[in-house]
Amino acid sequence: MPDTDGTVPDMSDHQNEFEFEQLREGQHVGALDLTQLSRADARFILRGATLARLTDFLSVNPLAAIRIGPLESGRLAGRYQPQTRVLELNTRRAGSTFGSQARPGQVAAVSAWGQTKRAAMQMSFVHELGHHLLETHPSAFGLSLAARQPEVKPISYRARVERQEYFCESLVAYTFFANELTRHDPIGHTMIETLHAALRREAHDRNQSQP
Ligand SMILES: [Zn+2]
Repeated sequence: MPDTDGTVPDMSDHQNEFEFEQLREGQHVGALDLTQLSRADARFILRGATLARLTDFLSVNPLAAIRIGPLESGRLAGRYQPQTRVLELNTRRAGSTFGSQARPGQVAAVSAWGQTKRAAMQMSFVHELGHHLLETHPSAFGLSLAARQPEVKPISYRARVERQEYFCESLVAYTFFANELTRHDPIGHTMIETLHAALRREAHDRNQSQP
């Protein structure tokens, strides 16, 4: 774990601990464009939504489309367009954007701790889902105000850019590196915990209101 000894956690075991709900076209996302990917890689990357506990939210606030393919620059990990609700991930991301051993607070982006390209892409998927949350969930944008607290210790350089990036990067860290986030930036950890509590409440209320 990248805390005291500075090594990066191995995610491979973690993947088996969960019962996965597959992200479904027509339910969580309008259209999936995954032509550049093997089925196994696509499943692995899209599992990020389940790991981030966002499938329930996505069934109420679906993405218009997810496109996973080559983007114009290797420096781009992905992007989300609020106007269209299209989420894109880059299959051509540069080798320098994953496999990092940097410490918390000194890593370029949390996804750089992904030790393979597809692990990094899974993390970038969760990052971009954070942008979708910021646009569509009523409390997410308000929660991102936590970034302005003086004691805040952003988990990555990307998280320092502005409060949306702080929110998205904390979401990725909470999902994949919860211990590191708790130790390095308790404020970010609490922010995402509060988000999950709100999501759980809403899911509960929806179930209650169903006949
Ligand atoms: Zn971002």
